[in-house]
Parts: sequence; C-alpha cells; structure tokens
Amino acid sequence: MLYYDLHIHSCLSPCAQEDMTPANICAMARLKGLDVIALTDHNTGGNLTACEEAARREGLLFLPGMELCASEEVHLLAYFLDVGSAMKMDAAIRPLYPAEKNRPDYFGRQLLMDSQDQALGEEDALLIGALAADITQLSGMVHHFGGVTVPAHIHRGYGLIQVLGFMPASPRFRAVEVSPGQEIPQGHLPVYSSDAHQLGMISERDHALPVPRDITALLRILGKE
Ligand SMILES: [Zn+2]
Ligand SMILES: [Zn+2]
Repeated sequence: MLYYDLHIHSCLSPCAQEDMTPANICAMARLKGLDVIALTDHNTGGNLTACEEAARREGLLFLPGMELCASEEVHLLAYFLDVGSAMKMDAAIRPLYPAEKNRPDYFGRQLLMDSQDQALGEEDALLIGALAADITQLSGMVHHFGGVTVPAHIHRGYGLIQVLGFMPASPRFRAVEVSPGQEIPQGHLPVYSSDAHQLGMISERDHALPVPRDITALLRILGKE
C-alpha cells in the first residue's frame, strides 16, 4: 500500500503560498507519513526537478505531474513516468499559453526554485489561464509522452462533472479525483488528494493505493495502458 497525496502546488503556482517550496513540501510530506507525492503546478513542470531531488532526500517516492487547464476550463491532472517526459509536455503546452503575462501583484508570484530553497527566478507566463487545447487534445498529448490524465476535483469549480455535467465517454478516464463522501462515477477509481496550496493542507496518512513502491505500477492503477 502506498499512502499518497497526488495533488500539491508549489510556489510556482501563483495561487500557492510562497513557503510551498520543494524542500518544505517534501519535509512536510515526510512528517505526515506519506509514501508518495505528486507535484502538480498549473500548466508547468518548472519545479519538478527540484521537487524530485527534495523527495529523494526525504525518502519519498515522487510522481512528476502537472494540473492542466483545458479550453473547456476543466482541470486535468497529468502524471508521468519521469521528469524528462513531464518536461516534454511542458514544452509542448508553452505555445498554448494565454497571450497575456502573469500579473504578480494580482495573481501572485510564480517562483522557480532549486531543491535547497534558493529561488532561481520567476516565470512570467500566465500559468493559471486555460490552454488553447481541449480535454481530448490534452489527454492525447499526455498519452503521447507516456503519461496518464486524471480529472481533478470533479465535483468542484473547474471539475469535469461540475463544468460538463457528466462523465464524457471519450476520452476515457480510469481514476477521478474526489473528496471523501462525494459520489464516485461508476467504474472509476477514486483518488483523494489535497490540492494543497499551503503546507498545512498536505494530506495526512489517510488514503492509500494498493500498489508496490513503483511509479510504473502507480501509473497503471491510475489508468495507463
Ligand atoms: Zn484545480
Ligand atoms: Zn490544483
């Protein structure tokens, strides 16, 4: 069993607290007793390398991810086998960013970090806007880079069911992110992650997936074929 939190934002997401550095996130995840975490910043993998290093230091398994905002204004979590694959997706979505730049005073700063809490710079693209690609196109891109997509917080704002009103037949998802007590669409695996934007929100040792300590096995249970 792997106790997990597969939806965490770092200080690269403008809406996250600035102390959500890779080092702090991983130290907190270890304190909470988690086995595996995923970093899922909005439309970017810019802090994945740093977070992977910090996770290794803390003895955590690390699943590289991001939270994509599709043109339908639906959030999709994307998970990859390794940081290299995630960064290919990062490069592929850059041309799909909104034209406007981030306004740090309004949306928040977007800090690129190393694994030792040193700021490397700021991302100036607007990371929280919708990408110029829909759910089907983004899922296809993620699959192309060997990853898997999981609809995020499906019953909340920017969630698949909340926005569309139903589970689409295509693309097919195996897992969905829900909160405890929420309805689970038939035939889907529920994933309960925190969507943490501050350190205290990172999950406790509450939810586990029945897989060995292996990223390939984790991706497979989340729907990778
Ligand atoms: Zn979201
Ligand atoms: Zn999120």
